[in-house]
Order: sequence, then structure tokens, then C-alpha cells
Amino acid sequence: MDWRELALCRREDPDLFFPIGAINSGLVLIQTDEAKAVCRRCTVTERCLALALSAEPVEGIWGGTSEGERRAMRRCVSRESRNATENAA
Ligand code: SF4
Repeated sequence: MDWRELALCRREDPDLFFPIGAINSGLVLIQTDEAKAVCRRCTVTERCLALALSAEPVEGIWGGTSEGERRAMRRCVSRESRNATENAA
């Protein structure tokens, strides 16, 4: 079985996971929180997040994270990788 078949968001309005509007507007924040609440109950969160992190850029809420949060995660991994390379040299 494909993990996507277990995705809880399949039972939700897809628009919930793609908030439209100014990043910090009230409606976007509410919608983002509601989408993340679905993700917290989902059993395939890790696989979903891994896919979103590997397929840049991906809009919307994936694996319980927003685009901005995934960007920050990528920067952090990139920085750690660079530090490890510098420390090994
Ligand atoms: S983690 Fe969220 S976006 Fe990913 S499959 Fe589950 S419900 Fe959908």
C-alpha cells in the first residue's frame, strides 16, 4: 500500500493545506493551525515531511510544517553539513 493512501488530509478539504493570503494574517494562521492539527493525528507524517523536504519548493502544509519552517530546516541541515565538512578538514 502506498503511504499516501493513509494520509489523513485525503479526508479534508485540500484548500485547508494551502492557505492563501499574507503570511501572518489571522485567517492564514488559523488555517495553518487547523491543517497542522490534522497532521499531528496522521500516521505518515515523517514520510510526508521527507517528501516535502526532498522536493523543493513545495507549497502548503506538509508533514505538519509550513513552507517557512521547511526552509528553516533546510538551512539548518545545510549549515550543519557545512560545519561538519569544515571540522573534518
Ligand atoms: S502529514 Fe499532514 S499533509 Fe502529510 S499526509 Fe499526513 S495529513 Fe497529509
